[in-house]
This record gives sequence, C-alpha cells and structure tokens, in this order.
Amino acid sequence: MKTKWGSCNPAKKIIWLNSELSKKLVSAIDYVILHEIAHFVSPRHDEVFLKVLETHMPTWRQVRADLNALPLPAWTEG
Ligand SMILES: [Zn+2]
Repeated sequence: MKTKWGSCNPAKKIIWLNSELSKKLVSAIDYVILHEIAHFVSPRHDEVFLKVLETHMPTWRQVRADLNALPLPAWTEG
C-alpha cells in the first residue's frame, strides 16, 4: 500500500485501507471503502462498478478529486 489509499481481495472479501486515510475527511474514507466494496461486485471499473458508486455516493467524483488534492500519493485506481 505504498501509493494506494486502499485495495481489496474480492475472493476473500477483504479490504485494506491506507492508515493515512484516518487523517482525512470522513467522506474520503467513505469513498475509498465504497470503491473497494464495489470491487466485490465487479473487479473492473466497468459500468456495473460505476453504478454501485453512483447509487451509494452520487458525489463520488468530487470526493475523489478532493482526496487527490491532498498532499499524499495520488489515489491510484486499485
Ligand atoms: Zn478500483
């Protein structure tokens, strides 16, 4: 987890979060958790994946932009 805010193993239903996230906005933490959970539904960033994000966090694009504006390694889609 050197450059990612989070990652996941869909097969084992496990999510890892970068501990640096604990210093960030709650909305950013929610976004990263939602992103990883969405990978339980689809392993790729396809339409099914995006539908999960849109449904549960319509503002996810702005939240991601805010997260990436922070002075830490950019969120890399994992
Ligand atoms: Zn991803």
